[in-house]
Amino acid sequence: MTSAFIKEELADVKKRCLQEIQGSEIIACHPVSVRIRMTRTEFKKLEACLQFSEGYPNTVIVVEIKSKTIPEKLCEGLARICDEEAKKILGQQQVMHMLKFIRQFIDDNPFTPCSNELTYIKKELVMEQDTFKTKQKAGVIIYTIKMSDYYFKVKLTVPDNYPEEPVIIEETGNNFPAIFVKMFKSQSEEIARQCVTPPLKKNPKDPPFQFKPSLQLVCKFLVTDCVRKYPVEICHLCNEKAFPKKPEHVVNEPMHGRHVEWMYCGHLFHHGCLDDYMTTPPFTGGKKCPKCGKRLYHNKWNVTPKLAEDRWAHHQARQRELEEVTDFLQ
Ligand SMILES: [Zn+2]
Ligand SMILES: [Zn+2]
Repeated sequence: MTSAFIKEELADVKKRCLQEIQGSEIIACHPVSVRIRMTRTEFKKLEACLQFSEGYPNTVIVVEIKSKTIPEKLCEGLARICDEEAKKILGQQQVMHMLKFIRQFIDDNPFTPCSNELTYIKKELVMEQDTFKTKQKAGVIIYTIKMSDYYFKVKLTVPDNYPEEPVIIEETGNNFPAIFVKMFKSQSEEIARQCVTPPLKKNPKDPPFQFKPSLQLVCKFLVTDCVRKYPVEICHLCNEKAFPKKPEHVVNEPMHGRHVEWMYCGHLFHHGCLDDYMTTPPFTGGKKCPKCGKRLYHNKWNVTPKLAEDRWAHHQARQRELEEVTDFLQ
């Protein structure tokens, strides 16, 4: 026997739902269950199934949340807080109240499509020395990644139609050498871009392009391949750390001996060490990285082996001249 109370409430839901709950669709609305689909974006889409329990409205309505895009754990958590919320309105009509509550939850939680990524980042990437803060409603993450005395602070914004659009990356403070900051920024932006943009040159054998979530990939790159990596790397010519121990000693003048050069093979050198190496024979076959053997290219030493030979010969001759002058003066 369906109570008159429930009948009246269902009629009310049919009348008000579509107008009052943005992006809602009624799938079912009868005494067995009320099923409403709610869509904010393609990835913030769920189905709420509400069932009247015995003794309703003096008992809580049972809420179940299903979604193909929102992680299961989050759906379960939302159902749990719905249960708490329903307790506040015992004795009253609960359906519309709960539907509004669920819609509000989607609106207030821009992180819903990336909650699994956030869990991974907090568990696997964030370390004790780091600071990791989230501004829930704005969908903003402020992450300060630290390594020895070096730090890199980044603001990551999760857009409303994430993951169709990539996470927005803004560097907001650091004490790394300038060329590294530039590289961290451009490469992380490129990673985010590639998550949502098909490659220009398509291999016909490749499966059709599908965008993928960018937040975790960007964080993993910044943490593992940038901030935690470079401050401990050595210069493969003098075998000392490439970065100064104290970040306040970082050199940003490109021709300074302790300026850190980052080569395309990924290895680091002091400018001074590399300059000696690049301008001293042998030049045949081009200069190779002493660590990995890859050819070293750098616009500061953009010379052919022949030109390097000539310069070397010239330098030697000049050196002899100077020595002769010194001899003469003695
Ligand atoms: Zn060195
Ligand atoms: Zn190398």
